[in-house]
Amino acid sequence: MQCIGLIGGMSWESTAVYYRRLNEQTRERLGGLHSADVIMHSVDFAEIVALQKAAKWAEAAQVLGLVAQGLQKAGANIVLICTNTMHLLADEVQAAVDIPLLHIADVTAKAVKEGGSRRPLLLATRYTMEQAFYRDRLRERHGLDALVPAEASDRNSIHDIIFDELCRGVVKESSRQRYLEVIESGRRAGADSVILGCTEIGLLIGPEDVSLPVYDSTLLHADAALDFALAAQAA
Ligand code: GLU
Repeated sequence: MQCIGLIGGMSWESTAVYYRRLNEQTRERLGGLHSADVIMHSVDFAEIVALQKAAKWAEAAQVLGLVAQGLQKAGANIVLICTNTMHLLADEVQAAVDIPLLHIADVTAKAVKEGGSRRPLLLATRYTMEQAFYRDRLRERHGLDALVPAEASDRNSIHDIIFDELCRGVVKESSRQRYLEVIESGRRAGADSVILGCTEIGLLIGPEDVSLPVYDSTLLHADAALDFALAAQAA
């Protein structure tokens, strides 16, 4: 099995989901006592959030590039940035290493297309919903016409629940209802599916809560990393 390098800690609540998923799926696929070959560097999220808020993206890219280099030196064969938002810096992180970076939007888009959806509602941080990097990639590379919540107040609620609650391990029924309201507005605006485009959202809602198909970027990202790790072994 190839070694999977995780840039984690953004937040650790979702990095823990990656770690569990990689190991559960390895057990599922290989059986016995098999577990995933993983190296993780979990950063201090408060430091990253300060850079995000100050829009110090070049500095953040330097931090994550160094982390990626460390993972490569330690033996990782592939690197994952365990957050959608920081894929804003995917090109810079990829440029810092020789091993491939597995882009979360690409693996999510692949699943959306395989599921027969074309107009997903993208729920994510404000950075991911309002800057072009993610939706442009979905459209230009994958032909997906992603919507984001039309109302700024809805985008703010989605964003604030991520940072004020989910990243702190707080899961509230009232927030689940708020997300479902926003999804219902998206459905009325023409969305045919929902992308959980922030790695913590799966802690709050899942396919069982929503009538539209749901694509959880965290689980899809982890599963695609394992596909890579095991395919390389089989080759
Ligand atoms: N984990 C979140 C994401 O997938 C947000 C945390 C961050 O800002 O990196 O976008």
